[in-house]
Amino acid sequence: MSTFNDNHRAIIQAFMCRKTLKMHDMKELFATIFAVNNPDPIDPRTFPENEIQIYLFDINEELSRFDLEIKSIRSQDDRTPIYALVNLSSDTVIQSATHHTADEIAYFRRLLDAMFDTNNQANAEVFAVKRNDAERLHKAPRGEEEGNEGSGGKGLTMYEAQQALQSFVEEGWLERSGNQWYSLAPRGLLELSEYLKKTYNSSETAGSPNSSPTPGEDLIRFCYLCKDMLTVGQRCDDYSCPARMHNPCAKVLFEKSDPKCPGCKKVWSGDSPVGEKAAARLHVVRRQGGRASTVGTGGKMPKADGVKERRKQTRVIDDDEEDDEDEDEEDEEAHESDGEE
Ligand SMILES: [Zn+2]
Ligand SMILES: [Zn+2]
Repeated sequence: MSTFNDNHRAIIQAFMCRKTLKMHDMKELFATIFAVNNPDPIDPRTFPENEIQIYLFDINEELSRFDLEIKSIRSQDDRTPIYALVNLSSDTVIQSATHHTADEIAYFRRLLDAMFDTNNQANAEVFAVKRNDAERLHKAPRGEEEGNEGSGGKGLTMYEAQQALQSFVEEGWLERSGNQWYSLAPRGLLELSEYLKKTYNSSETAGSPNSSPTPGEDLIRFCYLCKDMLTVGQRCDDYSCPARMHNPCAKVLFEKSDPKCPGCKKVWSGDSPVGEKAAARLHVVRRQGGRASTVGTGGKMPKADGVKERRKQTRVIDDDEEDDEDEDEEDEEAHESDGEE
């Protein structure tokens, strides 16, 4: 390998500090670092990407001794590459990479359960947890208080949970949407993909985009086109069909062909969302199936045949902001949050 120098070290330091970098961040970083020993100014916009890749190759060779690697993942929103320093040895959630306490890590696991199990149902693959629901998970559930491997003690106070959520976002594990939904951020997707498959899928092959639509235990979804994990995007209008796609991937696929499902060949409307937008749909379905309601469906609602047994059908996802705020005021432990954007 080439000589490991201050440039390499500066790049690693930047990753330790900033957690995730997009390509334009990378170009700015490299231009700044290279400008130190360069008499001429360097334009970050024209910094050659192949030079960046060569540096990353050398850095990763060095980092491999510590089971670390700078890996990239494509943004689910626009498919641009995002880079993060990833701990390859962590088979437990965020444990070895961070300073978090056992209680905080147990809380993070409860958040993952909320995203990938509770809020991941046959009719609504939300893969996110509403802020108020996330905060309410601060207490350890009964039976998990002590003795269970990997679980913490009593849990966290509401205030501690709010602080933990903030640090999970700052560290790049989670991101919070404008509508106050927490979901896995690129670093979380990169570093936790193996853990998630191991925890929520009964088998990795069954979780592949080409798996049969028979009921199973697999809760992690993949894009039919790019094969990456998918937590935001769209799904086949036939809810028993396993096909999912990122929005930009669907756009690419249907640019030159009729929008037909690549799996079952039925018409693909693009109106069946995956992600926080799916929560509203769940709300409508439930009202439709429950008490009389004036709420319309806004479109046909395909019957889901492949309902997963593990998917809890009783969970209420309330996307009514006012209700949530009221409940918070009743919570004795609730603290005024400073996290509003
Ligand atoms: Zn994709
Ligand atoms: Zn289909």
